[in-house]
Amino acid sequence: MILDLSCLEGPKHTAQLNTFMSGTYGMNKLVYSFGAGQADGDASLKNLLGGKGANLAEMNKIGLPVPPGFTITTEVCTAFYALGQKYPEGLADQVRVALAQIEQSVGRGFGDEANPLLVSVRSGARASMPGMMDTVLNLGLNDVTVEGLATQSGNRRFAFDSYRRFIQMYSHVVLELDHHMFEDILESYKEVHDFTIDTDLEAGDWEAIVRAYQDGVVAAYGKPFPQDVNDQLWGAIGAVFRSWKNDRAHFYRKMHDIPESWGTAVNVQAMVFGNMGETSATGVAFTRNPSTGERLFYGEYLINAQGEDVVAGIRTPKSITKVQRESMGEGGLSLQEALPDVFNQLVEVYGQLEGHYRDMQDIEFTVERGKLWMLQTRNGKRTAKAALKIAVDMVDEGLITQDEAIMRVDPMALDQLLHPTIAPGAVRDLIASGLPASPGAAVGEVVFDPDEAELMAKAGKSVILVREETSPEDIHGMHASRAIVTSRGGMTSHAAVVARGMGRPCVSGAGDIRIDEAAGHFKARGRVIRKGELISVDGSKGEVLFGAVEMEQPELSGDFAALMVWADQVRRLKVRANAETPLDVRTAREFGAEGIGLCRTEHMFFDANRIAAVREMILSETTQGRVSALAKILPMQRQDFVEIFTIMVGLPCTIRLLDPPLHEFLPHSLEDVEAVAAATGLDKAKLLERAKELHEVNPMLGHRGCRLGITFPEIYDMQARAIFEAAIQVAKASGQAPVPEIMIPLIATEKELQILKDRVDAIGREVMAKVGVTIAYQVGTMIELPRAALKADEIARQADFFSFGTNDLTQTTLGISRDDSSRFMGAYVEQGIFEKDPFVTLDQSGVGDLIKIARDRGQATNPNLKLGICGEHGGDPASIHFCEKSGLDYVSCSPYRVPIARLAAAQAALSS
Ligand code: ADP
Ligand code: MG
Ligand code: MG
Repeated sequence: MILDLSCLEGPKHTAQLNTFMSGTYGMNKLVYSFGAGQADGDASLKNLLGGKGANLAEMNKIGLPVPPGFTITTEVCTAFYALGQKYPEGLADQVRVALAQIEQSVGRGFGDEANPLLVSVRSGARASMPGMMDTVLNLGLNDVTVEGLATQSGNRRFAFDSYRRFIQMYSHVVLELDHHMFEDILESYKEVHDFTIDTDLEAGDWEAIVRAYQDGVVAAYGKPFPQDVNDQLWGAIGAVFRSWKNDRAHFYRKMHDIPESWGTAVNVQAMVFGNMGETSATGVAFTRNPSTGERLFYGEYLINAQGEDVVAGIRTPKSITKVQRESMGEGGLSLQEALPDVFNQLVEVYGQLEGHYRDMQDIEFTVERGKLWMLQTRNGKRTAKAALKIAVDMVDEGLITQDEAIMRVDPMALDQLLHPTIAPGAVRDLIASGLPASPGAAVGEVVFDPDEAELMAKAGKSVILVREETSPEDIHGMHASRAIVTSRGGMTSHAAVVARGMGRPCVSGAGDIRIDEAAGHFKARGRVIRKGELISVDGSKGEVLFGAVEMEQPELSGDFAALMVWADQVRRLKVRANAETPLDVRTAREFGAEGIGLCRTEHMFFDANRIAAVREMILSETTQGRVSALAKILPMQRQDFVEIFTIMVGLPCTIRLLDPPLHEFLPHSLEDVEAVAAATGLDKAKLLERAKELHEVNPMLGHRGCRLGITFPEIYDMQARAIFEAAIQVAKASGQAPVPEIMIPLIATEKELQILKDRVDAIGREVMAKVGVTIAYQVGTMIELPRAALKADEIARQADFFSFGTNDLTQTTLGISRDDSSRFMGAYVEQGIFEKDPFVTLDQSGVGDLIKIARDRGQATNPNLKLGICGEHGGDPASIHFCEKSGLDYVSCSPYRVPIARLAAAQAALSS
C-alpha cells in the first residue's frame, strides 16, 4: 500500500481549488518548475503534480541528478475538460516562462537551428497508470534542428536515430497513426539491407528511414509531419490531457478504483540521451527484488538505447548487477561490469532514495556519455510475497516502524500467498521456459486473444493468456486470466509489471513459444499446443507445463507470521471464520481464526448419508414421524459438533440452527422420492403429494429460518440437544469447555426469539441435569431483517448476541436478490448508483445505518450484547473498516479470508 501524503497539502492548495472552481484560472500557478537542485513542488504535492511530477521535484530537492523541466498541474486537466477541451487562461504564458528556464538551465534554445533544446512530454497521474498516453521523446526536432543536433553533437547517426524515434512516437500518440506502419518501414529496410539489430544501422540509414517515415505520415495523415516546435509541444500536451479519457485509461481506472475527477499532470523535461554511443544507456531498476523482496538491486539496461527500448522487447535487455546476470545464466556484460563508474553512481542513488522514501523504489534512468540521470522514481509495485518481506525487513533495518509495516501490505494481496503453488513432487512436463516474472501457479485453458479470454472467464472457465507480448490494450484479458505467458519481453516488460500488480502468475520471454493465432495453436520445442488445451504456469520458476499439474497449499510461517503477530497486537476486532466442515474449521484455525462466527448446520444435512433421513423428517406429516427421523440424525449431528468444538477448543463457536427453506431439501426427482420410500417404507404417492404441498412460490421469503423452529420445534430441539451433548463430551475429554453460541436465524420479533430461546434453555437444563455437568452457553440471533434492526431494543432482551447476517440484510434492505443481481448490478455500479456491488462491499449508508440502529437500540436494553458480522462482508477490508468504526466485537469470514481480515482489522484500528 502506498502511503497517501495528500493530507500534507496545505491550505494554499485548497484555496487554489476554490478559485479554480470560481473560474479565475489565470490567477493561479498552473506550472511548477524543477531543475538544478531546486523545485517549486515536492513529493507532498502528488495530487496536484501527479506522482511522476511530484517525485521529479522531490528528487531535485534531495540533490539527485534530474534533467530540468516543468509540470502542468492536474487541475489544468480538470479545467481543460470543464472548459470544453480548452486551456485555462494564463497557461500559455506560464509554459513559455518555464520553458525559458529550461533553455537557460541547459544552454540550448527550443527550436534553435544550431543548438536545439529537445524535451520529452510525459503524462503523470496521481497513481501510476499504464493506460495513459505514451511518452513522446525528442520533441523539438524538425528537418532543420536535426541538422543542428547532428553538427552540435558531432554524431549524425544519433541525431537521425533521435528524429526517427520522435516521428514514430509523435505520429502514434499525438497524430494517432498506426504504429505498425513505422515498424513495417523499419523492418523492410533492415531486411533489404541485411541488418539484424538496430544498433548496426548508420547515420545514412536513419536518414533514409526518416524520409520514408515522413512520406508515410503524409500518406496516412494527409499533411506533412509538423515542423513548428511549438505546434509539436502543444500537440503533445493536448494528447496527454485527452488520453485521460481514452478507453484504456478508463478501463484501468475502473479496475483500480481511480476516480475520473483526479486528472493527469503533464511533465515537460529536457532530454538526456542514452543513445549517444557505447557509454550511454537507459535502464529501469528496483531497489529490491520486486518478486521475492530480497534486498538486491534488480533491473535491466541497454547500451546505446533510448526510453522504452528496455521494456518494448525489441532488444533483450541485460542485467544491472553481475550477480543477477550470472543467476540468469546471461551472456555479455552487466551494467556493473560494462560501466562500473555509472554503476557506482547508481548504488549511491539507491541508498539515498530508500533512505529518503523509506520504501522500495522503482526507478527509470538514463546514462548520457557516462553521466547518470534520474528520470523517475516511485514506490515499486511488488508481489504480495515481496511486499511482506520488504515490510518486515525494513522494520528490522530500522527504516520503518511495525505499524508502518502493517499499513504497507494490501490485505487483499495476501490472497496471492494463501493460494496454491505447484507441489514439489509433481510431475513437470515442460513445454517451455521463460522468466519468473510473477510468482504463484495456475492451471487453465490456453487462449491467445484478450477479448476471448474475457468471454471464456465470464463463462466460468479458467484461462491462461498466451501472447507474444502484452500492451495496455490487453489489460481486460490479463485480468480475466489465471496466468499470463509471453514469448517476448523481460522482467520489467508490460506483462511482467501488470501481472505482478494483479497478482497473476506470469512467465515472460518464453522464447521457445511460437504463436500462430490464426491456426489456433502455439508451438514449442517441437510440440503443438492447441487453444483450449490445459496448461499449468509456474510463475515462480518461469515454467510452462503441460496439463493440470498438482498444486500445494502455502506456507504460513516466516514474514507472513511476523506481520500477522504485529497485526494481532494492534487490532481490536476479533476475527472468526464461517466454517462447518472439519477441514474448513481446521484451515480457519491454522489461519488464526479466534472461533467460529457462523456454522451453517444445513450443510451438514445435505451430506449423502443423511439426506434420506432429512427428507423423511421433512416429508412426514406427524410430529411423531419427524421425531423418529430426527433421532437418526441426532448422533451424526452431535459428532459434527464434537469435531468442531475439538478443533476450536476453548474458543467461541456460533452455531446457527437450521435456516434454509424446507423447499431446498425436497426430493427433486422421482428417483429421490423412491429412495426415501425405500428407506422409510412410506408410500411413494403420498410422499409425492407431500412434496407438492411443501412447494413454495418464493422460498427465500417463505418457510425458513426461525419459522421452521416455530412450526416444527422438534428440529431445533434436536439440534440444541446435539450441541449441548457435544459440548459436554468435549469439555470432559479436553478439560476445556467450548463456548457454544446458539444462533436463531431470521428473527423479526421478540416473541419469536423468546419462544425459541425458552425451548433451547429447557433442553440445555435437561441435558446438563442428566449428566450433572454445567457449561456456559449463549443464545442470540442473526440480524438480517430490517424489522429486527428497528426493534433491536425488544429483541435484545432475549439475546446474548447479535450477528449481522449482512448477505440477507442487504437483500432484504435493498429488496434485491443476490442471486439475480448480476443482470443489473454492473449497470448500477457503472452509473454510480452504487459505488461498489453492495453484496461485496457493505452499503455503509443504508445497510450500515440499520446496523448502527440495531447496535444502539440493542445495547440500550442489553448493555452486554455482543456484536459481530458474519456475511460475506466480514472478509472485505472496506467493510471491516466500517465494523471497526461501528464498534462491533468481531468479524467472521471464510477461512481463506481470515488472514486478510486480521490485517485489515489491524489497519482499521491504526487508522481510526
Ligand atoms: P511511463 O510513465 O510510461 O514510464 P515515462 O514518462 O516515464 O513513461 O517515459 C518512459 C521513458 O522515456 C523513461 O523511462 C525514459 O527512459 C524516457 N524518458 C522520458 N523522459 C526523458 C528525458 N527527458 N530524457 C531521456 N529519456 C526520457
Ligand atoms: Mg509507457
Ligand atoms: Mg516511466
